[in-house]
Amino acid sequence: MAYITFFDTAKIKVSAGNGGDGAVSFHREKYIAAGGPDGGDGGVGGNVIFKADTNLSTLSDFRYKRKYTAEHGENGRARRQFGKSGKDLVISVPKGTVIKEAETGRVIADISDEQPKTIAKGGRGGWGNSHFATPTRQAPRFAKPGTPGESFELQLELKLLADVGLVGFPNVGKSSLIAAVSEAKPEIRDYHFTTISPVLGVIRRGEGNSFVMADIPGLIEGASEGAGLGHEFLRHVDRCRMLVHVVDVSGSEGRNPIEDFNAVNRELKNYNPELADRPMIVAGNKTDLASEEQLAEFEEFIKGLGYAYFPMMAAIAVGVDPMLDKISEMLQNLPPISKYEEEAAPAPDESSFNSQKFTVSENDGVYFVEGEWLLRLMRTIDFSDYESLQYFERVLTSSGVIDALVQAGIKEKDTVSIYDFEFDFVF
Ligand code: GDP
Ligand code: MG
Repeated sequence: MAYITFFDTAKIKVSAGNGGDGAVSFHREKYIAAGGPDGGDGGVGGNVIFKADTNLSTLSDFRYKRKYTAEHGENGRARRQFGKSGKDLVISVPKGTVIKEAETGRVIADISDEQPKTIAKGGRGGWGNSHFATPTRQAPRFAKPGTPGESFELQLELKLLADVGLVGFPNVGKSSLIAAVSEAKPEIRDYHFTTISPVLGVIRRGEGNSFVMADIPGLIEGASEGAGLGHEFLRHVDRCRMLVHVVDVSGSEGRNPIEDFNAVNRELKNYNPELADRPMIVAGNKTDLASEEQLAEFEEFIKGLGYAYFPMMAAIAVGVDPMLDKISEMLQNLPPISKYEEEAAPAPDESSFNSQKFTVSENDGVYFVEGEWLLRLMRTIDFSDYESLQYFERVLTSSGVIDALVQAGIKEKDTVSIYDFEFDFVF
């Protein structure tokens, strides 16, 4: 079985820029022997931002390019000069792209409106030594490194935003229908699989009454021999508010329209039982090629199941108006297009940090703690939230960081510095 690959999913890696390092520097001027510390801070790393572009309709841009990295922040310099910030990297995707964390499938964002979304945050710039000067520490010879930018493996999935989705076997007239009722210009051909990217058509039914219809590729070769229609295209009807099931009532390709109808419904149900319950109406197309008996038999069958039924000739736009009226009427009472809820990253279990490696070093009364896992942990911490801070404190204790600080000789009120978080040590 051959599939026409239609790029509606992609796996990519995005990395935000690292923050620049803070500088260690001392003010120097002629005739001034020992100037004060004047090392500037590092610049912040660029973010990776996703943005909807209505001119895009597939994810094919991601077919070859799979790694995306934003600019790093520059290091700080002498004379308190800040490092330049890294430029953000803006990635354009088709409207309706759902971004998931590849490893867990967690939904990070649904790019379904104009709002750009920051997916990977750039690292923060480290402080230059000028920050560390105090009355008792006049010449700090240390600065902080910048923190790394966030980095994710992402799974992108295009899930179109349309009120109405057309479903049905290839060649039954879905593209003809959308062409007849909207300004969309899908390819219409007399063979299977001509539609390789989804087409959205806007249908205007007078003042304040318009809706979007999606023509979705029928992807599988050999569907007529009973092969499945594939889950690929069904992804796109996921969030449609209702479905129009288009059937070739004439059986012009040698299939039985009733069997077609059942087969597509089975596919819908297999893909997502919720989809089988989505409100549906039926378009009986190619009536010009059907006999009186065929027409009567199919209509009776469909109405017997309780569906609204509309016989038509999509290619010449005959019989489509009553169906559009029915769609408008139904949409008035249906919930809006669904949006995928973002799922927060779960806080890792406290004990999972127990055997992680870290280092403690001391410089002029500041205790630096470093470890890759600490960075990851700190991204999940909301430092303005009491609960979250308490959790952080518990992890510092259970992982042995607090003990190690004590062993290193920390005293009450000494500064603990963990990347860009600092606090005074209290026993
Ligand atoms: P899709 O694969 O479901 O999008 O089908 P298309 O819209 O591309 O149509 C497939 C073929 O059926 C094309 O050759 C159309 O011209 C033809 N077709 C569409 N509607 C009708 C119709 O009402 N009557 C007849 N005889 N042919 C039609
Ligand atoms: Mg088509």
